[in-house]
Amino acid sequence: MKIAIKKMIETSLIDWEGKIVSTLYVPRCNFRCPFCYNCDLILYPDHFKNIPFEEINRFLLERKEFIDGICMSGGEPTLYADLLSYFKEIKNKGFLIKLDTNGTNPKLLEDLLKYRLIDYIAMDIKSSLDFDCYSKAAGIKDKILLERVKDSITLIMNSETDYEFRTTVVPLLHTEENIIEIAKYISGAKKYVLQNFSPLERTLNPSFQKIKPYSVEKIQEFVEKVKRYIPNCYYR
Ligand code: SF4
Repeated sequence: MKIAIKKMIETSLIDWEGKIVSTLYVPRCNFRCPFCYNCDLILYPDHFKNIPFEEINRFLLERKEFIDGICMSGGEPTLYADLLSYFKEIKNKGFLIKLDTNGTNPKLLEDLLKYRLIDYIAMDIKSSLDFDCYSKAAGIKDKILLERVKDSITLIMNSETDYEFRTTVVPLLHTEENIIEIAKYISGAKKYVLQNFSPLERTLNPSFQKIKPYSVEKIQEFVEKVKRYIPNCYYR
């Protein structure tokens, strides 16, 4: 499957802390997180036109003075084997690259790291790393996907590339114990971000729009408890 870009935020100040990026969205995902906000891109990829790469390149090159790089998001970018050659092309133009991933393609991730094609990785950890919890939070049935997530965590934590792990915290899926379990698993990680679930947007499972999110205070409480294992943990 060849990489396609279906959506682009031309200038983003919030997708990579301290950097100005263009955020690119690929379609399709091998997860089905019930709280996914990008569900149209996942479920109906063919409803969106491809944005021509020449157009993206032109945009980036014309603004090279103030755009630091790209944030590759989606969907799941690592579903596309030609991500590596696309990243090489972007790097050759002198831009930085941030990758958002669900961690299910450690093989490709390893290559991207080996060839120094990523400058920052944001990897989602959907739940504590036992299959029952992960299958609910990521909507998966195949245990191998969870094994790949674990391999990606190990790879990232042992790499020299800057990174963060992040979890979208949803009341029906996550308890305090669950979050602490994740924190123990990635104990010593460089950075762990807890994001609050926002039911205001469309969700892959429509019933999730009725879930009342945790209060900010509650998430802050989680953050304080997680700090015992990962001092650089915060709420975003
Ligand atoms: S939230 Fe889940 S389903 Fe949606 S793009 Fe991310 S990993 Fe895929």
